[in-house]
Amino acid sequence: MSERYRQLSPSEFFYRNREIAGFSNPVRAVYQTIRELVENSLDATEMHGLLPEIKIEVRDEGEEKVTISVEDNGVGISPLEVPNVFGRVFYGSKYVLRQSRGVFGLGVKMAVLYAQMTTGQPVKVRTATRRSKFVYEYQVAINIEKNMPTIKSLAIMKNEDGWHGTRVELSMKGNWIQAKKRVEEYIRRTAIIAPYATIIVDAPDFSFRFERSSTKLPPTPITGKPHPHGVDIELLKKIIEGSKKTTYLFDFLIKNFDGVGPATAKKFFDTFGLNPDLKVKDLKIDEIEDLANKMQVFDDWRRPKHTTLSPLGEELLVKGVKAVLNPSFVTAVSRPPSSYAGHPFIVEVALAYGGSISPMDEPMLLRFANRIPLLYDEGVDVSTKVLGKIDWKTYKIDFPSPLAVVTHVCSTKVPFKGVGKEAVADVPEVESEIESGLRECARRLRTHLSRLERLFEVKRWEITVSKYVDEVSSSLSYVTGVDHGLLQSKLLALIKARVMAGDRNDE
Ligand code: ADP
Ligand code: MG
Repeated sequence: MSERYRQLSPSEFFYRNREIAGFSNPVRAVYQTIRELVENSLDATEMHGLLPEIKIEVRDEGEEKVTISVEDNGVGISPLEVPNVFGRVFYGSKYVLRQSRGVFGLGVKMAVLYAQMTTGQPVKVRTATRRSKFVYEYQVAINIEKNMPTIKSLAIMKNEDGWHGTRVELSMKGNWIQAKKRVEEYIRRTAIIAPYATIIVDAPDFSFRFERSSTKLPPTPITGKPHPHGVDIELLKKIIEGSKKTTYLFDFLIKNFDGVGPATAKKFFDTFGLNPDLKVKDLKIDEIEDLANKMQVFDDWRRPKHTTLSPLGEELLVKGVKAVLNPSFVTAVSRPPSSYAGHPFIVEVALAYGGSISPMDEPMLLRFANRIPLLYDEGVDVSTKVLGKIDWKTYKIDFPSPLAVVTHVCSTKVPFKGVGKEAVADVPEVESEIESGLRECARRLRTHLSRLERLFEVKRWEITVSKYVDEVSSSLSYVTGVDHGLLQSKLLALIKARVMAGDRNDE
């Protein structure tokens, strides 16, 4: 008998392989669902200049059934888009060159798929865009075979109080008891990296509210163009297809790529002896291939622009760490923009010490990528590798020690290991930036610790020395006629200055 062939729809593929997107079991599914919904809510607010207020509700329905809802005050979703957004795998608004949490147009659909296959329930969505006169309430299921949404119900209500935002509710097979620690940790870490967000959680066993500690939002990322170092033949073909018949190669490069001005373009053509006056539409496939290769290897493109990125900044990072970890010392470094394979990235590192942080045998590592907390797969993350290279003794740290390390990688293409987005790969450029940031923070911590040591020493000296100072100044006063109290305070100040001067040697 001959084989029968058919195509697998994207929904069906992910339905069968849900573990690769983080939905491997009822514990992980709860965590992953909350994560996908919160990420979408944060994207829908902060990327549009709105201060996020996010409400997370979890109900444990018993018998391994959990209902999760997340509501935001974001830009909302146009009613026509709702069915596709929730019911069609690979449908989204973030397929552009700009930093965002979402990238694949997949996350929320995985949660919808998982809910549907474990409880048979559709996703419930309430949404209104800004200034919308109506609020829309949808129930949407996914037709897995066709990768198409099925609208189960739609209600349209008057938007009496001018609300805008989105509320998504899902019921699924889930293990709340085992998931709750991770979920709590995820929310705590989200509060560190988004100190401008108010997060309200109402769940069995814990309810809390993280009040925003800042009303300053990080810079909104701007959509950019691909960098020539990152092109391949397919991308080049696609851009050529969208070009006019009359476009010359020279203008084509300048118009469509980041980091190419007229001078750079001229240098490129001169270096390879290419003809800039060819029409792009006339290029044959082997010429396109040749062009792509040359664009990748040419060394003199300008660096990719970083306006597509949205780092948190040192001030906000310090605020977030302070608000959540309550350390006695914190410092942060936002490294200058860098790039790998044509993708711009920025690394931020913070170091927190003492206060409410408990002493541990190794530093507590808190990893973030594009403002997403990463909780799983710590062992294979590039930050873990960098930490392994640091000899903390040179920074005056002896373990056990109350030390927390925060790393944040932001990029238009974070080199994640896998679509579950839990670990950053050890790309050399990223690794070296993390290391520089971490060492800078560690040097500052060492300075701080040395200063503390000196202060401690001064106190000890003061106590021992004050006994003698009294006697000495009393005799001096007798001999010179200068006021006793004045002599005493001058002497003490002199000694203190000497001890403190030792401080400088450590910086
Ligand atoms: P991704 O986040 O990777 O784009 P998702 O499947 O999670 O993929 O979401 C698909 C799209 O739905 C998003 O790109 C966004 O346009 C829209 N969306 C999802 N959730 C929200 C929300 N809470 N508010 C506004 N838009 C949303
Ligand atoms: Mg998403």
